[in-house]
Amino acid sequence: MKRCLLIHYGEIGLKLGNKDYFVSKLMRNIKTKLKENFGRNFFVEHTLDRFLIPLDDDFEEAKYVSVLNKIFGIRNFSFVFVGSLDVEKLADEIWDSLQSEIGTDGPQTFRVTVKRSMKMPLNSMEMERKIGALLLSKGLDMKVKLKNPDFVVNVEFFNEHGYFSFKKYEGPGGLSSGTQGKLIATLSAGIDSPVAAYKMMRRGARVIFVHFHGYPYTDKDEMEQVEELVEILSEYQEGTKLYLVPFGFIQKSISTNTDVPARVRTILYRRMMLRIAEKICFKQRAKGIVTGDNFGQVASQTPENIFAIHAVTTVPLFQPLIGCDKEEIIEIAKRIGTFEISKLPCKESCTMFMPKSPELRANIKELEGCEKNLPLEEWIKKALEEA
Ligand code: ATP
Ligand code: MG
Repeated sequence: MKRCLLIHYGEIGLKLGNKDYFVSKLMRNIKTKLKENFGRNFFVEHTLDRFLIPLDDDFEEAKYVSVLNKIFGIRNFSFVFVGSLDVEKLADEIWDSLQSEIGTDGPQTFRVTVKRSMKMPLNSMEMERKIGALLLSKGLDMKVKLKNPDFVVNVEFFNEHGYFSFKKYEGPGGLSSGTQGKLIATLSAGIDSPVAAYKMMRRGARVIFVHFHGYPYTDKDEMEQVEELVEILSEYQEGTKLYLVPFGFIQKSISTNTDVPARVRTILYRRMMLRIAEKICFKQRAKGIVTGDNFGQVASQTPENIFAIHAVTTVPLFQPLIGCDKEEIIEIAKRIGTFEISKLPCKESCTMFMPKSPELRANIKELEGCEKNLPLEEWIKKALEEA
């Protein structure tokens, strides 16, 4: 039987004012990604708030799933059989296709779920009952169970067809990539910042990555780890860019400066990172900076310290993980494939020049006193020139 990919989008369907823009962007993203991965052009029909894409006879379902899971805006998708509008005929077609889907000791219970997007003599519930009864009469050896059945026959009536499938995949949700403008994402080699960047990309932002590295004071591992993370994240958007900014010289100067108490060093590093990120933000005409900060997780994330760090910039800071628990963050990191890389030990620039007992309640006046005699502008200039 002829097969199609049926894609439903979520929230973008609600964007009344500029829905067309979101939908056409999503359609373009789907076409681009499919072409990139399957080496041919795909015909994508947009009809009644869904996309319908004809598939080759021998299509590889798993490969499509992995591509579609990386396209933001998709709520769910299924690989439908193009069935008839006539219920009797349709039940025959479902029955024929169903045999290969259920093994010998397969599901015990089932239901039929119908969605109609066209005028028909029976309503959805009547149609569900009718198809269910026809399948049972053909010898389907399962009990009907409406709530949490083992097996679901999904049918959607539109375009003069009864499209059916036995499995619906959850998509990644969110808003179409590239619909919300640019943001700068500061990326360490840690677990949190890749997840933070992912979350903002999922909301439609195009993200430009910035990493501050300690090389040559540290080895290249950290940088390579970040490059690997960016590689993974780049699959979710078009045109990824990564700035590798030398930062070791700044950390070294601060950490060897006898006028700077060791306990405030980390906060001064963070303030410097933010100042440099701000410059990149202006240069890229981005609209804000994303960080993986998480309230109260490490010393630099106490409310006082966050206050003192954020004070150096007026650019909006986006911290999508601020209220998350570590377990939630790890769960996402595992799902998107960054966890295995982030958890690798590497000599981070930050840990290397880190004080033993960091300040938990920074005082801006004291920080400004420390910074007064430091060549901040010169550092920023050098870091950006060598990035
Ligand atoms: P992560 O797991 O993302 O490293 P963290 O919990 O270890 O975060 P911090 O080390 O305090 O927390 O870093 C807070 C945020 O500052 C990071 O999430 C990241 O956005 C940014 N950041 C820290 N170090 C760097 C770096 N070397 N380069 C770029 N951004 C950094
Ligand atoms: Mg870190």
